[in-house]
Amino acid sequence: MKTKTITDIDVQGKKVLVRVDFNVPLSSKNPADNITVTDDTRIKAALPTLNYLLDHGAALILCSHLGRPSSAADKQFAMDPVAARLSELLGRPVKKLDEVVGPSVTAAVNAMQPGDVILLENTRFEPGETKNNPELSQKLADLADVYVEDAFGSVHRAHASTEGAARMIRAKGGPAVAGFLMGKELDALGTAVSDPPHPYVAIMGGAKISDKIKLIENLLKTADKVLIGGGMANTFLKAQGHQLGKSLVEEDALPEAQRLLKVAANRIVLPTDVVVAPEVAADAPAETVSVWGIPPDQMALDVGPDTIERFNEELQGAQLVVWNGPMGVFEIDRFAEGTNALAKLLAALTAHGVQVVIGGGDSAAAVRKAGLADKMTHISTGGGASLELLEGKELPGITVLDRK
Ligand code: ADP
Ligand code: MG
Repeated sequence: MKTKTITDIDVQGKKVLVRVDFNVPLSSKNPADNITVTDDTRIKAALPTLNYLLDHGAALILCSHLGRPSSAADKQFAMDPVAARLSELLGRPVKKLDEVVGPSVTAAVNAMQPGDVILLENTRFEPGETKNNPELSQKLADLADVYVEDAFGSVHRAHASTEGAARMIRAKGGPAVAGFLMGKELDALGTAVSDPPHPYVAIMGGAKISDKIKLIENLLKTADKVLIGGGMANTFLKAQGHQLGKSLVEEDALPEAQRLLKVAANRIVLPTDVVVAPEVAADAPAETVSVWGIPPDQMALDVGPDTIERFNEELQGAQLVVWNGPMGVFEIDRFAEGTNALAKLLAALTAHGVQVVIGGGDSAAAVRKAGLADKMTHISTGGGASLELLEGKELPGITVLDRK
């Protein structure tokens, strides 16, 4: 069953509460400054959904969190700069309110006409937001006839503006559906989870295996091969009996790694060579060695060219590739080569029609840093949310939406 989206419902003359992701970087932390939005990527990303709803006769009540305010007194996180930028991008007035809910909001919403746009104050100015407080959820739901979720990065948490308001709008008979951004995420990641084309190759990396054991297990259920690099591979290599020197190894996770190697030995592919250095530093002397020859005073900080070649062979013929976790300490150029080489391979596969889906905050950052972000089928905007979805978890902000 698929989640309904805005194209499945009628919004003419309706008041629509849209949960957007306007969690954007700002120019200053001092509320006395004239604060501006320094990167409007997320605001621009919301425009297709907002313009579609406006073109179809809706009045829009927008809400989002911004930063991590400790209370409504944290004025540096007020939504005013976002409203200013959004108004420029939409080419129409955006009425920014100074409350999330309350009498001033109710009055402004009651006066709305189709085509009007209101932006509520930062949802995290309300202590009930992250607690999914029912009163706050109800007050948000009271404002609108329709709920639209377009903040994928927030759907793994049941908050008042995500799960709560959606549930309460449904309770009064209104639709609760996904916007275009959410729809894209669900198409790309949802397909990988529930209905992947084969051969399906998953690639895992990054630093912490203990955080991602469930993810690897779930990928092993559906993927034909799981290629493992980065810091995560160290624990698997150690579990296989290799000496890892000073490398990052999670001793506590060794039994889990051993178990996974046993149940899926022929489907887990590990590095054959690694780039080692005595410390994590840009000027450290680095060399490429076989995984059989990691010196005791060195640490593995990237995968080597042999490994990339091996991974390349495994990727040939794949229909779907899901990648999470950098192949090395990509923040330092010397140890970004494996990650960059893999990103290049995947860009080439995408060009040949392979579906390539990237999840995870650092992985997305690594692909962007390599300048290949627009060469992949899909890069998820939700770090935690994308991983939880790939783990096979039900995400409260998705489960609550209407199904087709
Ligand atoms: P994501 O955010 O995409 O889910 P993670 O947070 O799991 O990815 O992992 C990213 C981090 O892993 C990066 O900071 C990177 O430096 C680190 N990392 C990758 N390989 C190694 C390694 N061999 N040793 C230490 N850290 C590593
Ligand atoms: Mg990360």
